[in-house]
Amino acid sequence: MSYRFDLSNLGVMVDMAGCPNRCRHCWLGSHRNGHLSVSAFRNISEQFRNWRDENGMAIKELGFFSWWREPDYRSDYKELWRLEQELSSPGCAQRFELLSTWRLAHDKDYANWAAALEPKACQVTFFGMEDNTDWGMRRNGAFMDQLTATERCLSAGIVPRWQLFITKRCLNELDEFLRLIYDLNLFKRCKKIGRKFEVFIGGIAPEGNGYEIDGLRPDESDLNLIPKELLAVSREGLAMLGQSESKLLKELAESDTPPNIYVNSPCLAINADYDVYPNIAEPTEWWRLGNLKTDGIDRILKRYRDEATPGMSINRTLPTSVLAKTYGDPNSKKLYDKSDLITRFMHQWGVDYMKGKVI
Ligand code: SF4
Repeated sequence: MSYRFDLSNLGVMVDMAGCPNRCRHCWLGSHRNGHLSVSAFRNISEQFRNWRDENGMAIKELGFFSWWREPDYRSDYKELWRLEQELSSPGCAQRFELLSTWRLAHDKDYANWAAALEPKACQVTFFGMEDNTDWGMRRNGAFMDQLTATERCLSAGIVPRWQLFITKRCLNELDEFLRLIYDLNLFKRCKKIGRKFEVFIGGIAPEGNGYEIDGLRPDESDLNLIPKELLAVSREGLAMLGQSESKLLKELAESDTPPNIYVNSPCLAINADYDVYPNIAEPTEWWRLGNLKTDGIDRILKRYRDEATPGMSINRTLPTSVLAKTYGDPNSKKLYDKSDLITRFMHQWGVDYMKGKVI
């Protein structure tokens, strides 16, 4: 059975500037920062708008984004946002609960500009306290930037949403992290601007850079080190940390359906070297659709529509039980969300595939 993406609407994210960070949990990996010009962005949008399939059908609705990693990282971010609206189909240029926390900290005008957009919320990431957050984002000063970003959000009427990634490195400083939330009076200050402060414990997907820190993933025995008070104020408590690999394996080893990872809003990502990836999994070679300059848009869009890359193909055909039996560790007590554990298997499959090993 062959699968086809419905190409009636498509988002296209162009990594025009990249990202100031190289976060260790980042599922997008560590692609190089580039500097794509506005005319290159326009040219890419024209290629997508002009494309027709074998029946002469165009993509009806297109949304163009000038970023794939950190939004608004480029100094001409206001112009780029205007351009996104000009190039996209009506209503398709969108903002999310993502702002550049780097720019919030380094550009004092940015928060007020961002406050005029919807949604008035900004995700702010931590890996524990200062040393661990600088380590996690691989940038000295990142932790202090996150605190400055939080302050500037609040002053501009934007609600900061804190996400905490717990690794084995920060288990002994979670009390301190909780104290920080109270010292900064975040619940009351957010209430004052008419919004609710949220903090949540995020799960790290073991793909992209996240695969490299899989050994630091908390296991069952670490759960009692997470302060109950922190869980009480967290949005989902421990839910996103999931269950132990050994427990999940019992279920996955019986599952004959393939992973079938899918996204509701089809989207492509184009990096600074014009490599194009489906935005459904880590942007690695086994998911890569092709290169816009050397392969051309027609081949890329048809490969996407027909789910023709090695990663897309096994996503629809290889039973999860085969992946679980090949890559699962029945003795592992490491905690995973079920879909994240499948993602790890697919990453391991991809590495083997690139080495010529086929399961
Ligand atoms: S998680 Fe976000 S900020 Fe961190 S490296 Fe990835 S894109 Fe950049």
